Amino acid sequence: MTASELVARIAARELSALEATDECLARIASLDGELGAFLHVFADSAREQARAVDAGQRTGPLAGLPVAVKDNMCTRGQPTTCGSRILESFVPPYEATAVARLQAAGAVVLGKTNLDEFAMGSSTENSAYQVTRNPWDVSRVPGGSSGGSAAAVAAGMAPLALGSDTGGSIRQPAAFCGVTGLKPTYGRISRYGLVAFASSLDQIGPMACSARDCALALEVLAGPDPQDTTSSVEPVAAYTSLLESGVGGLKLGVPRSFLGDLAAPMARVFEEACQVLVGLGARLVTVELPNLGAALPAYYIVAPAEASSNLARYDGTRYGFRAPDAGDVLTMFKRSRSRGFGAEVKRRIMVGTYVLSAGYYDAYYLKAQKVRTVLSRDFEKAFQEVDLIVMPTTPSTAFKIGEKSSDPLEMYLSDIYTVALNLVGLPGLVVPSAPVEGLPTGLQLIGRAFDEGRLLAAGHAFQQATDFHLRRPERTSVSQG
Ligand code: GLN
Repeated sequence: MTASELVARIAARELSALEATDECLARIASLDGELGAFLHVFADSAREQARAVDAGQRTGPLAGLPVAVKDNMCTRGQPTTCGSRILESFVPPYEATAVARLQAAGAVVLGKTNLDEFAMGSSTENSAYQVTRNPWDVSRVPGGSSGGSAAAVAAGMAPLALGSDTGGSIRQPAAFCGVTGLKPTYGRISRYGLVAFASSLDQIGPMACSARDCALALEVLAGPDPQDTTSSVEPVAAYTSLLESGVGGLKLGVPRSFLGDLAAPMARVFEEACQVLVGLGARLVTVELPNLGAALPAYYIVAPAEASSNLARYDGTRYGFRAPDAGDVLTMFKRSRSRGFGAEVKRRIMVGTYVLSAGYYDAYYLKAQKVRTVLSRDFEKAFQEVDLIVMPTTPSTAFKIGEKSSDPLEMYLSDIYTVALNLVGLPGLVVPSAPVEGLPTGLQLIGRAFDEGRLLAAGHAFQQATDFHLRRPERTSVSQG
């Protein structure tokens, strides 16, 4: 059942909030031993929150809706590990604004989902705790870094999950797991309480079964927050009311020259998806985004640079893990960090420190920032001609567990279609498109800044004409609710 249907049924008292929560907890109990989507399940507090809904003490637009939260968002009094050993024992004293808003809307927090350590990765294999498996094929990755959230939604363990997207971490796992995922405009949702990876790129967003569900969640999540000065005061649209606007008469831009290398089966499902939108009245045109090829290298300079600075705070002094056997403070820093962080995080810190160092700053960091400016201009120009841009989300379907884990560059290349949006701050919605060899793919719709309403309406129109978003992996398709 979708989040919207679930909320409606609970509101109509056809289903109690406790029944909905228990159903999710039962699915987690039966499926998650194999899938590994959750790091922490809060069965007791979830049931308590659900009972409060049933007793009429908790109300709101999401009353009784079970949700899963990526484990890089702070949950007060409950663990928040970021998939890292260094935060293994960290229990935040405060709630992330996104989580607080879900709670205030009546949602029930089921637990925290697995991720690549500090959200650095594209497969969820970089978690210090466990590997998450793709519900469509358990020998494959769910994508990353929000792989736990994507797998939880795909397997029906949670109808809605929060993810974060710094370079594709909502959109790529959504595509790999056949769910709908929205990376909103930078600043649309408060990042207060989201553990920082790369602060100029990070954004929280919903992952669910449909564009409608993402719209429902965004209405609750979006808006300014005095605790996050980068959150925007741009008015929050009534996203669910805009859903029926359709794509009739819209001009959709395809950056054809950038898609030349796309493998034939992926190109075919992308073209088919575009034709669905054409069938709904949209017009396809080719757009030039001449510098799109520079996005990936620029991202893998900017993101590590910011990460190396953000992660300096984990030194054993204030948070989480501290090496117990260090005599002096420097040794304590060194041992805490070298034991607390995993290999990919260390690689990013070293790359980041390198590109920011005095001799290389201009050649790498400054240049990458210039690429961002140039890319922003490219998108601005394109959006003078078109209403939306469409692209594939990933160059392939979900890859095998272990296939890319020994080759970081191969792993980074899986982000080729997603990182540009973070560099320029624009919103992107991924909706499931036709499968390739039984595995999900995702169509990526890109909009102007704060044009999530149009984006979600286009996704909704696509989902009215297709059923890819309704398909569920066979082995997990026990009916829900
Ligand atoms: N895969 C990208 C990276 O490893 C994006 C991660 C993200 O969006 N959090 O940096």
